[in-house]
Amino acid sequence: MTERKTAVVTGGGSGIGRAISLRLAKDGFATAVLDINTESAEQVAKEARELGYEAAAFGGVDVSDRAQVDAAIDRIRETFGPVLVLVNNAGLTGTLGFQKITDELWDRMIAVNLSGPFYLTQAVLPDMISAHWGRIVNISSSSAHSGQQYMVHYVSTKAGLIGFTKSLALEYGPKGITVNTIPPGFVDTPMLRDVEAKGFIGGTIADHAERTPVRRPGKPEDIAAAASFLISEEAGYITGQIIGVNGGRNT
Ligand code: NAP
Repeated sequence: MTERKTAVVTGGGSGIGRAISLRLAKDGFATAVLDINTESAEQVAKEARELGYEAAAFGGVDVSDRAQVDAAIDRIRETFGPVLVLVNNAGLTGTLGFQKITDELWDRMIAVNLSGPFYLTQAVLPDMISAHWGRIVNISSSSAHSGQQYMVHYVSTKAGLIGFTKSLALEYGPKGITVNTIPPGFVDTPMLRDVEAKGFIGGTIADHAERTPVRRPGKPEDIAAAASFLISEEAGYITGQIIGVNGGRNT
């Protein structure tokens, strides 16, 4: 990277988003840690600054609310300048038998996991088009490949994010913008611990690690490393791709 660019990471206060925020800050991006949770976003931005990197928290932002998203992106531009990197990572999970999924749960899942990336992407695209350079990485889920019982609403949104990625890549490739998706599989984060605690993964995380080809759960840093590469200058010929980071669980 020759000049400092601004990156936005949604859901940057926890798990995978935290690791991506710290990694992009380390890579030299002015990093906006955007999260619905104010405290955790501030904690991650502080952590990055203490390491000598440039980062700021934009907490209390619900990605499913277009007005909040637009206001946050305006504040990020004022703080750091045009946004040329977007990581749509914020996500809501849920485990419930299909017939118990209410309209409200279904709509909320779509609002956070699919409308969120839609609003964020529309908000930052003008900056990328002006610069004739941009990088968008969408965090989907390996469950969109395999399917996952008791998670029909969640998996449907993550599969939607894959189509979103591929279609955007075709439309914006000519404008210098790449769009890719990383579907993580079994990454040890608060979200996965929560699903484990509710008994919905069939055994423990350790049991699953035994059945994973690389014999360990994923680390948030594994996803951050792949995101860092996709965002790098060298990855300019990679777009519209699904880059699985899952220890070989899905191929
Ligand atoms: P996590 O630890 O729960 O982190 C998600 C972050 O997003 C949290 O800080 C959360 O805040 C925030 N968030 C939730 N709803 C939001 C909203 N409406 N607006 C803004 N921020 C919001 O989860 P994670 O495991 O790191 O997951 C990150 C992404 O990876 C998600 O999209 C998830 O679906 C995907 N993924 C994870 C795995 C895995 O194995 N962990 C596997 C496949 C896909 P609160 O904590 O306050 O809710």
